[in-house]
Amino acid sequence: MEKPFENFGSMVFNETEMRERLPKPVYSQWKKTVCNESLLDRQTADAIAHAMKRWALEKGATHYTHWFQPMTGGTAEKHDAFIDPDENNEPLTHFSGKNLIKGEPDASSFPSGGLRATFEARGYTYWDVTSPVFIRDNVLCIPTVFVSYNGESLDKKDPLLKSVKAMSHAATRVVNLLGDKDVRSCNASVGLEQEYFLIDRAAFEARRDLKLTGRTLFGAPAPKAQELDDHYFGSIPVRVSAFMKDVNEELWKLGIYSKTEHNEVAPGQFEIAPVFTECNIAVDQNQLMMDVLRKTAEKHGLACLLYEKPFEGINGSGKHNNYSIITDNGQNLFSPGEKPSENVRFLVFVCAFIKAVNTYPELLRMSASCAGNDHRLGANEAPPAIVSIYLGEYIERILTDLVKGKKTDVTKDAREFSPISGLSYIPRDNNDRNRTSPVAFTGNKFEFRMLGSSMSASMTNTVLNSIMAKTLNDIAAELEGIKYLQDVRAKALDICRTILQENNKILFSGDGYSESWIREAERRGLPNIRSSVESYRILDRADTVALLTGLGVYTKTELAARKAIYTEEYIHKIGIEVRTLTKMINEEVLPAMTEELTFYSNAYNAAGNAAPAYIKDRITGISGLIDQVYNGLDHLNKVYASKAKKPMSTETGIELYNEVCPLMDEIRVFINEYESIASDRFYHIPSYEDMLFGL
Ligand code: ADP
Ligand code: MG
Repeated sequence: MEKPFENFGSMVFNETEMRERLPKPVYSQWKKTVCNESLLDRQTADAIAHAMKRWALEKGATHYTHWFQPMTGGTAEKHDAFIDPDENNEPLTHFSGKNLIKGEPDASSFPSGGLRATFEARGYTYWDVTSPVFIRDNVLCIPTVFVSYNGESLDKKDPLLKSVKAMSHAATRVVNLLGDKDVRSCNASVGLEQEYFLIDRAAFEARRDLKLTGRTLFGAPAPKAQELDDHYFGSIPVRVSAFMKDVNEELWKLGIYSKTEHNEVAPGQFEIAPVFTECNIAVDQNQLMMDVLRKTAEKHGLACLLYEKPFEGINGSGKHNNYSIITDNGQNLFSPGEKPSENVRFLVFVCAFIKAVNTYPELLRMSASCAGNDHRLGANEAPPAIVSIYLGEYIERILTDLVKGKKTDVTKDAREFSPISGLSYIPRDNNDRNRTSPVAFTGNKFEFRMLGSSMSASMTNTVLNSIMAKTLNDIAAELEGIKYLQDVRAKALDICRTILQENNKILFSGDGYSESWIREAERRGLPNIRSSVESYRILDRADTVALLTGLGVYTKTELAARKAIYTEEYIHKIGIEVRTLTKMINEEVLPAMTEELTFYSNAYNAAGNAAPAYIKDRITGISGLIDQVYNGLDHLNKVYASKAKKPMSTETGIELYNEVCPLMDEIRVFINEYESIASDRFYHIPSYEDMLFGL
């Protein structure tokens, strides 16, 4: 009998492994470091490195690497073998505390937004002791932060760790003030649901647009798409099952509790979700998960598409970020408990969340911005670009009553029913499911649904932690100095009432996709930022700088650098799309059209006046489309060339979004029109049908 969970965590140097392999004083020193209570000294580091090396060699590892998360949104690594020649030129394995703690990957080519002048272009990596070391493909991977010579953060992990610290401090303050003095720290818990598409590898290889840009730049709709909803939660195809089995085994070995998997709405679309964990680790694990999905797909003759919108007219993919705050003794501060209306702490944390989101909606929207996500957010697809919160009827009622000073009778829930006789205990779900909402309260956590499927979840959680830290610190300041606990609690409820009255506009329970909501949101004064490049403006706005420098999460220069990097990235991505489209049209589309036109022209010439209408129609149709594609491309390239000369600024990015992207969409229509009549004798680019129904 195969034991599927036998190897769980076998590739992680986790706490159990450390406890077993490290001398006791070393282990406790490491624990103290993780809990932020002390710094790691040289001897401890050497001892840990030694044990780690032995463990890694036993597992067949040959190399080690400092695994880090540059601002590209992916991960980076540079491998070093464990082996060195000794004085007799014999091989000697070597891995010191210094190797473990600090690395100099150089890596001067990563975008730094001017943070690293070329004369000191070096970047340094430092071990993040809070995230476990793991082995992947015979390489011992050490999660690290990546900083410049001057200590400015060059990656996505360093600010996230700083934001956790800030949030922990603020949340602990509030919890302590509300009477629970045992709590010493808090952490954000995050569960990331990951959507993706799978297509046959051969089709992927034959589509340059998918390979170079992540999305199809054209493609006529397949005769069947998702109208029957027959894919959603359907039985998983055999090939995909085999793939998922491998993915799960790989993830389990890496200590990732991969938990749920199912078909998504679109054909060929799937979702995988692990059990939630501390946010820093959850973000690391999501990066690993994306990597495992991609590589396992390759082994199975498949391609895993993580891009936000690979196919036009078909649902895109997102990444749901489930967020809660948990104390060091395991209490979830968003957990309503049996009597939420009397649960002051719960009310305070939910109200803090509402205020935080309502105060910084643009920052949150920006954290989900990338070129790919522009095709989802604000483009008639889930979720809209307008940030709002959906609480669900139950919590909404409690908060409304709180404002009115009324006590909610939670025992009377009209909607409670027993669907099956014989079940006396039916766990109650405190959440109505409004799938159109970008932020929803779902039971004991807030689910942020704007993130794009390809993105690192780091920025979103950095923002969530930071805006919660700020709001909770403000609340703590109001509560501090009040002498008696009952007065503190009364004051806390007062604060909640004020928050609800002042931040009501962010709450919305209707259909987030509807046109009427866009107008309503405008009336309420909620921002609706359509494009990612526009959203990056928030990064150096005064209130953002004040918030994030105040909490020690970013410096002003680091924020400016991020704005520059993300804007440049956007501009480059549009450039790549234009060039890819141009190449595909010139090398594949127009030649196929011309060949097909020649074929019909020959038939026409042979038949003379007796040629059937079909042939004449094809000749006029195809030659007309050739002109449209050709002229469209010419126009696109002229407009693009004029923009490409401009500086890498937000303005240039917005011009690309408004003036260049629509031109690509126009050409797409003509190619699609040709594709829908093209013969496969001439046209060889894999179709939507090949890709979406080819599993
Ligand atoms: P759905 O698709 O209905 O949104 P899933 O079960 O697919 O739900 O995913 C829910 C995600 O939320 C999982 O990753 C789960 O581990 C995570 N989660 C559950 N409770 C919490 C919590 N308290 N804090 C953060 N994440 C949580
Ligand atoms: Mg979800």
